[in-house]
Amino acid sequence: MPRVLIIGAGGVGNVVAHKCAQVPEVFEKITLASRTVAKCEAIAQRIEEKLGREIAVAAVDADDRAQTAALIRKTDPNLVLNVALPYQDLSIMDACLETGVDYLDTANYEPPHVAKFEYHWQWAYQERYRKAGLTALLGSGFDPGVTNVFCAYAAKHLFDEIHTVDIVDCNAGDHGHPFATNFNPEINIREVTQRGKYWEGQWREIDAMSVSRDFDFPGVGSKKMYLLYHEELESLVKHFAPKGLKRIRFWMTFGQEYLTHLRVLQNVGMTRIDPVEFQGRSIVPIQFLKALLPDPGSLGKGYHGKTSIGCLIEGTKGKKKVRKLIYNICDHAECYAETGAQAVSYTTGVPAMIGAKMLLEERWRGPGVFNMEQFDPDPFMADLNRYGLPWQIEDRDRGIE
Ligand code: NDP
Repeated sequence: MPRVLIIGAGGVGNVVAHKCAQVPEVFEKITLASRTVAKCEAIAQRIEEKLGREIAVAAVDADDRAQTAALIRKTDPNLVLNVALPYQDLSIMDACLETGVDYLDTANYEPPHVAKFEYHWQWAYQERYRKAGLTALLGSGFDPGVTNVFCAYAAKHLFDEIHTVDIVDCNAGDHGHPFATNFNPEINIREVTQRGKYWEGQWREIDAMSVSRDFDFPGVGSKKMYLLYHEELESLVKHFAPKGLKRIRFWMTFGQEYLTHLRVLQNVGMTRIDPVEFQGRSIVPIQFLKALLPDPGSLGKGYHGKTSIGCLIEGTKGKKKVRKLIYNICDHAECYAETGAQAVSYTTGVPAMIGAKMLLEERWRGPGVFNMEQFDPDPFMADLNRYGLPWQIEDRDRGIE
C-alpha cells in the first residue's frame, strides 16, 4: 500500500495534499505534517469535505533531523515529499537516509543566513543515496521542475541540438493586494533581490533587475520581464552544456507596484536577512516582514488572471534552425475552485504530486540524487495534461535579444 508523508502545509502543501488525494490508486495513505499542526488539520478537513478522503496529520519541526526520522518511522512512508522551506532540505534528506525512504522536494537548499541557492549541498548526497539504494528527486515544482522536463522533452523529440534556452515566467494575475508574494515571502524576496546571473559559456552576473525585455506571453499578451538567476539554470547547464547548449537565461515578469514596494522595503532595510537589535531582542527584518504580509496560501479567493510559463528553445533539427516555445497557461480562479489555492501554489503542487507518482510507479527510478531533466520526460508530460497543467508547443519567429 503506497504511503506518502508530505512535510509543509503552506500554499504548496495544500495543493500537493489535494492532488495526491485525487489519485487514490497511487497515494493510498497520506500523512500531512508541518510545524503548525492546525494548518494540516484545516487542509485535511477541506479534503474530506471535497473528496471524501481522510488524510492523517502530524506536527513536526523538520529542522530537527531526529524528530523527522521518528515521524518517518511512525508513518512508514514509501516517499517523503518536502514542501516546507528550502532551509529544511538537508535535515529531511538526512532523516530519509537514516530511515531508508525516498525523497522529493521543489526548491534547492539555501542556508538561512546567506541568500545563496545552489545545488552543491544536495548533490553532495549522491554517493550516500546511491549506496543506500534510495532516490532523491530535486526540484519537482514548476520552475524548477516542469521547465526542466520541457527541456528534456525538447531534446528528446523536437531538436537534434539545443543551443539556447530562455525560461519565461509570467504571472499576469491580480490578487487585489498592493504587495504580496505568491509563495513564501522570505524565500521569494531573497530570490528576487539577489544579483542576476545567466550562463553563456560561463556564468555572467548582472545587477538585480537591471536587464529587461518585452515578451509576448501566450494567453496573456506582451509583458515586461526581468532577467533573474533561478536554480534550474545550474542543473540544466550541467546536463545540457556537454550536448551543445550555448546560453541559458531565466526571465520573470513583475508589476510596477510590486517593484516599487520592493525598492522601498529594500531601501529602508526591511528585506535584510541579518539579525538586528530591537527593543532588547534580536529580530531578522525579513522574518518580521513575512509576519506582516498576506499568507500566500490565503491569496486564492478573488485572485483572477493567468500564469503563462514556458521555455523558448532554439537549436537545430536535421539541417534546419528551429525555435519552439513549450508552455502552460494556468488560471488562478480555476485553481481556487479546485483546491482553494492560487495558480502559483497550484503550478508547484501538481508537479510535486506527479514527480511522486513517477517514483511510486517506478517509472522514474535509480539510486542517487536526480534533477528532473535526467529522467524520461514522456510519462511526466502525459500526466501534466491529465492532472491540470496542459502544455502546448508553438513555433516562434523571433528569439529574445
Ligand atoms: P509557505 O510559507 O506557504 O509554507 C511553508 C510551510 O512549511 C508552512 O506550513 C510552514 O509551517 C512549514 N515549515 C516551515 N518551517 C518548517 C519546519 N522547520 N518544520 C516543519 N514545517 C515547516 O510556502 P509555500 O507553500 O508557498 O512554498 C513551499 C515550498 O515550495 C518552498 O520551499 C518554496 O520555495 C517552494 N516553491 C517552489 C516553486 C517551484 O516552482 N519549484 C514555486 C513556489 C514555491 P508554519 O506554518 O508553521 O510556518
